[in-house]
Amino acid sequence: MQIKCNVLDRQFQMYQAEYEAAALRVLRSGWYVLGNEVLAFENAFAAYTGRKYCVGLNSGLDALILSVRALGIGVGDEVIVQSNTYIATVLGITENGAVPVFVEPDEYYNIDAAKIEAAVTDRTKAVLVTHLYGQASNMAAVVETARKYHLELIEDCAQSHGACFDGQMTGTFGRAGCFSFYPTKNLGAFGDAGAVVTDDEAFADKLRMMRNYGSKVRYHNEIEGVNSRLDEMQAALLRVKLGHLSALNQERKELAQRYDAGIVNPQIVLPKLRTKAESIYHQYVIRCTKRDALQAYLAKQDIQTQIHYPIPPHLAACYAHLGCHKGDYPIAEQYADQVLSLPIYTGMTGEEQQYVIDRLNAF
Ligand SMILES: *Cc1c(COP(=O)(O)O)cnc(C)c1O
Repeated sequence: MQIKCNVLDRQFQMYQAEYEAAALRVLRSGWYVLGNEVLAFENAFAAYTGRKYCVGLNSGLDALILSVRALGIGVGDEVIVQSNTYIATVLGITENGAVPVFVEPDEYYNIDAAKIEAAVTDRTKAVLVTHLYGQASNMAAVVETARKYHLELIEDCAQSHGACFDGQMTGTFGRAGCFSFYPTKNLGAFGDAGAVVTDDEAFADKLRMMRNYGSKVRYHNEIEGVNSRLDEMQAALLRVKLGHLSALNQERKELAQRYDAGIVNPQIVLPKLRTKAESIYHQYVIRCTKRDALQAYLAKQDIQTQIHYPIPPHLAACYAHLGCHKGDYPIAEQYADQVLSLPIYTGMTGEEQQYVIDRLNAF
């Protein structure tokens, strides 16, 4: 049996008729970028998250970059971010000339909220939390610290569409919830797409201007904007998928529960859930001190796995100029050496999953 880490066409097949109808509707409409489909998706996604406004964009990275920029955060400012996140989270900061200040993760792979306070300086402008692998961060503690120091709070929800903390949806705790709809995400498009949700009307208006060359009225460029427009095709397809997101997330939760119950190997550390936190299992991430051997062993049995992520941002070649060294963030470095993401995808069969579980237990 061959098991891929991710299989995207099975969820397409589940809702194929709906997707095809939406795609045809767009093709026949004669309008392809920023139109009624984008508006309809923005309204539907704002309602889903419970926020007032949603601004559709080109990607999750743009959602982060433009959110930081719209808050006026730039050169000389510091933004607190966890040391084990995806590079895009950090790029959202550095693309604006601001400085990332890394804080180590906790045992749930999210920012260790107890360590945020020590990282605050008089240049700190914001905290940017990533709900990594689909599990909500410790938002009670994050919000409390952000309030105490009057910091902006931005959430990277690229992996947490629909995941709640204490019953509240991720993306609704601060000024901005930044989402990616890259095809592999739980709410994935069929190309690149992203969005920001917020309750702040002026902030949403600014993002709307920024995404379209800084203009509200065509050719009246009020600010230096970018092209980060969402297209009608992705918006229409996303609205179809949004209608099934709860069911899709539920399916992943059940797959995760089967891994939880089935994997019994003292060499493997299973993912843990924080009290009050929910995970939508964007990834199912285990840890093993013999990670590379385990990955090679699984590959030999035709089981594909991935590493999210092998190099923490502070050690990435592109950030050599930050002057960080190996050993600066030991927890993030340990995770980078030990984490392994198992196959998990909509439509994964019981037989496929049992094969993975059996091979893991035999390692
Ligand atoms: C995918 C991802 C992004 C970037 O999203 P794109 O749409 O690929 O630009 C940002 N942050 C995290 C945590 C992600 O997983």
